[in-house]
Amino acid sequence: MDEKVDPILQEVIARNPGESEFHQAVREVLETLGPVLVKYPEFARHKIIERICEPERQIIFRVPWQDDKGQVQINRGFRVEFNSALGPYKGGLRFRASVYLGIIKFLGFEQIFKNALTGMPIGGGKGGSDFDPKGKSNDEIMRFCQSFMTELYRHLGEYTDVPAGDIGVGGREIGYLFGQYKRITNRYESGVLTGKGLEWGGSLVRTEATGYGLIFFVREMLKVRGDDLAGKTCVVSGSGNVAIYAIEKLQELGARVIACSDSDGVLLDEQGIDLEIVKQLKEKERRRIGEYTTLRKHAHYRAKGTIWDIPCQVALPCATQNELTGKDANTLLKNGCIAVAEGANMPTTPEGARTFLAAKIAYGPGKAANAGGVATSALEMQQNACRDAWTFDYTQQKLEAIMKEIHRLCHQTAEEFGMPGNYVIGANIAGFLKVAKAMVALGLV
Ligand code: NDP
Repeated sequence: MDEKVDPILQEVIARNPGESEFHQAVREVLETLGPVLVKYPEFARHKIIERICEPERQIIFRVPWQDDKGQVQINRGFRVEFNSALGPYKGGLRFRASVYLGIIKFLGFEQIFKNALTGMPIGGGKGGSDFDPKGKSNDEIMRFCQSFMTELYRHLGEYTDVPAGDIGVGGREIGYLFGQYKRITNRYESGVLTGKGLEWGGSLVRTEATGYGLIFFVREMLKVRGDDLAGKTCVVSGSGNVAIYAIEKLQELGARVIACSDSDGVLLDEQGIDLEIVKQLKEKERRRIGEYTTLRKHAHYRAKGTIWDIPCQVALPCATQNELTGKDANTLLKNGCIAVAEGANMPTTPEGARTFLAAKIAYGPGKAANAGGVATSALEMQQNACRDAWTFDYTQQKLEAIMKEIHRLCHQTAEEFGMPGNYVIGANIAGFLKVAKAMVALGLV
């Protein structure tokens, strides 16, 4: 860690006690910024790094709701409005029991740089609740979403703060949230939330965007190395939104996906994952991935355990933070893995990331590799602003162009700063530079 940057990190840790994921995300960015301060000394004068690490606004609120038995339940809601130098705060909402301020801050912090990399006019933010939709009825989810929005609406607006989905928040939840926002404000303000249904202001390709974008990014990383995805054996963790559409695009490009997972266990199908079954189980029926084996008898399922000991050439962590450890990274390398790209946010532990970087395989960090989701959210905002609806092909072409440009920018920035092929440095510095330059231009606000 650079000697100018280390005291800033120590201050962040002291000011945000107990928020280990946030500390990890800040450390991971700050340890790459030393050379930037040498090239741009004005950033130190303006205390840009210190300011970027302090959210502009942090909102924590009570979410009371009634379950189907008539019992009162109380959850905690969060929205961290981290940085608006480039545009309105933009970032998803996560509903999961493990959510606390440290998780929302890590996600919001990462979002600042990711959103900057897309080249779209969006700032960074994130929100959510410790409410877990799993096992809840539709009515309970609706009542929770309505209560959540009854507090949050006052902080939102198409020019202020624009949430979207994340873990536990899909089309159904966005629908209930948007309905309540519309009712309270008496405005059909489509651009206030993204990930909407196609019938009411949503964008084609938004559902597929993070997974598809991830694969476009992997394809670019391999292209630089004179390689491609055709015939590659791939392992994708998770079986949610990101994983499903990553698998879909991999299969379209001729790759062979043999494994995926959920929070209960790991599924291995040597004949290739049947994506229609996964979609039916996880997207439509909200069941467990293990049930796949009742329909495909030759497939194997094991409860718990890691997915990363399954030999593959391309590994895509698409489930959750810190799901791929240093030990897993070593196992993957030993088994011949040549490319890793993060569909999830911060899925690789610092030790895992160091292992991949030292081995000089193609390693795409989440900020760059999974930016296709938020980029397409910004395309949804564009369509809402001009009351238009683009075709699937047109929107996908835009997404593909954005992912190619993110790859080019990260690759070029890494070279500029003397670390060719290091997408972690490329993504952190390229994203940081855009935000930092805007912050200097906007003055001390
Ligand atoms: P979903 O809720 O749709 O899916 C998450 C998947 O990960 C589920 O299959 C879930 O299993 C699984 N999972 C969760 N925790 C674990 C765990 N500890 N071990 C193994 N599997 C686990 O979420 P998304 O697909 O939307 O998000 C996945 C990741 O991608 C998150 O890190 C998110 O922040 C990131 N991301 C998402 C974007 C988007 O557009 N959706 C954009 C950019 C990043 P189960 O069914 O058991 O819960």
